Amino acid sequence: MTHQLRAELGPDGQVLKWHVVRDAEPTAMCGREIAADAEARDEAEWGTGLRGCQQCGSLYMHEAPHYPGDPHR
Ligand SMILES: [Zn+2]
Repeated sequence: MTHQLRAELGPDGQVLKWHVVRDAEPTAMCGREIAADAEARDEAEWGTGLRGCQQCGSLYMHEAPHYPGDPHR
């Protein structure tokens, strides 16, 4: 399984937060729909200072406990 970060954009186009999607699905792990043209980042960037969705974060850590930004490693 692969994961990808997708941006949730605010009304003026700035990134509100980053969600995690599995295998490029159109819906984030927290259930939020992601716009088809939303910016995407590599999952390796999770935990590097991006503002992540908390629900996606806990689900993602459960599925991928050894992601590079894991503070518990
Ligand atoms: Zn989310």
